[in-house]
Amino acid sequence: MKAPAKSSGSSSPAVSTPAPSAAADPGRKPGEGEGFDFFSLLAEHEHEQVSAYYDPSTGYRGIIAIHSTVLGPALGGTRFWNYQSDRDALIDALRLARGMTYKAAVAGLNLGGGKGVIIGDNRTTRREALFRAHGRHVESLKGRYITAEDVGTSTADMEYIKAETNHVTGLIGRSGDPSPVTAFGVYRGIKACVRYRSGSDSLSGKAVALQGCGSVGYHLAKLLHAEGASITCTDIDPQRVKRVVEDSAAKAVAPDAIYDVRASIFAPCALGAVINDDTVQRLQVEIVAGAANNQLAEDRHGDLLEQRGITYAPDYVINGGGLINVNAELHGWAPERARSKAGEIYDTLLRVFEIAREEGCPSYRAADRLAEQRIAAIAKVRRNFV
Ligand code: NAD
Repeated sequence: MKAPAKSSGSSSPAVSTPAPSAAADPGRKPGEGEGFDFFSLLAEHEHEQVSAYYDPSTGYRGIIAIHSTVLGPALGGTRFWNYQSDRDALIDALRLARGMTYKAAVAGLNLGGGKGVIIGDNRTTRREALFRAHGRHVESLKGRYITAEDVGTSTADMEYIKAETNHVTGLIGRSGDPSPVTAFGVYRGIKACVRYRSGSDSLSGKAVALQGCGSVGYHLAKLLHAEGASITCTDIDPQRVKRVVEDSAAKAVAPDAIYDVRASIFAPCALGAVINDDTVQRLQVEIVAGAANNQLAEDRHGDLLEQRGITYAPDYVINGGGLINVNAELHGWAPERARSKAGEIYDTLLRVFEIAREEGCPSYRAADRLAEQRIAAIAKVRRNFV
């Protein structure tokens, strides 16, 4: 599900470029004959639109990529990063926007996928004018894109954006910390994995190796402990380990030792790329299921897990609680409704495993299929004029 980083693109000041339909010029494929492959980059994964905006007064350089609005407005955070080149920024925006489409689709939300990137040093203290420029950029898309926090941005930055547009979420005093909802979704996902393997979803007596005792890891540990699971945990921050040891009766190990713990479940809740050539051979578990984004260093590590007989809960399915929480803010849902929606991750994962079995493919591919099936089905339903 990763957009390959092989093509090039370009951003130019204040242009908004809806992807052309093939019917517009049947003689020429997107990108052909132009000296660069901007439109083929969009066409490759069916992106709808890219908007680039430059504001000389603030130095703002921003790109907004809209992958799909079939299910609803494209939602995705704004990343503020010192990219090596405009092309790198564009490719990152395209890749992340596409990921959001899939995540929203499998979470059963009426949202599409998009992503914003601002090019520059995210440590800058001159933020108001910059983020208001970004807010104007978002506003120019008239609700096709809704933004939120991401790497390099904060809730305070979202408030600046809010001064220019209503199409922003994750504001101060609104839905708040998504971690408890995310943790609940991961907990339900772990239960689904256990049920898939053993027929019963009880976690009583199950051993869990938990990597990362941060916001999600802490709440997850409490849920697991309450159901009688035993936890071995790790973190690079000793204070965070201490909290989980004390509040969830966990045992602690050194960060690198977590991959060698013999357990039923490995729950990565810290970093990406933790399933790699080294760790995939070391794991002594039946299930990998946790909150971290981009757990597979490469897709082939998902195949290797499969070959080793380890059940993998695709990361963007099991950690969908964070997005569900944002959706709750957008639609004014009560906290219980968000939690209940996150609980549905249980059934979604069972469906993913069913598709994997039916189609003889690894679970990470089955998750993509499920997302694509929902998008295609809804696109058909919405084809008619009403
Ligand atoms: P966090 O920053 O609160 O916690 C991450 C923890 O991982 C920290 O305590 C950190 O010290 C620890 N860590 C870092 N490197 C480590 C290492 N090498 N070994 C062990 N521990 C290490 O983040 P979080 O909000 O708990 O999110 C955890 C993961 O879940 C992240 O990958 C995040 O992107 C993903 N995620 C979070 C949410 C959410 O709602 N917070 C939603 C979806 C996905």
